[in-house]
Amino acid sequence: MPKRVRSKSCDRCSIPAEILYRVQYDDSGRWKFVCLTCYPIVSRNNPAYVYGGTWKAEKY
Ligand SMILES: [Zn+2]
Repeated sequence: MPKRVRSKSCDRCSIPAEILYRVQYDDSGRWKFVCLTCYPIVSRNNPAYVYGGTWKAEKY
């Protein structure tokens, strides 16, 4: 079986991360994935912010 590593990049800063937060942070109603660095930035003082869970890369 080939090793399948999922990776995902932050929708805000485009840096790949192993853990991303699934959030809505604008009025588009679309889910976006943000890294731990961007998370406090998009969630702070943001009435459009909605938390939708945490995404983690599979270990193997
Ligand atoms: Zn980011």
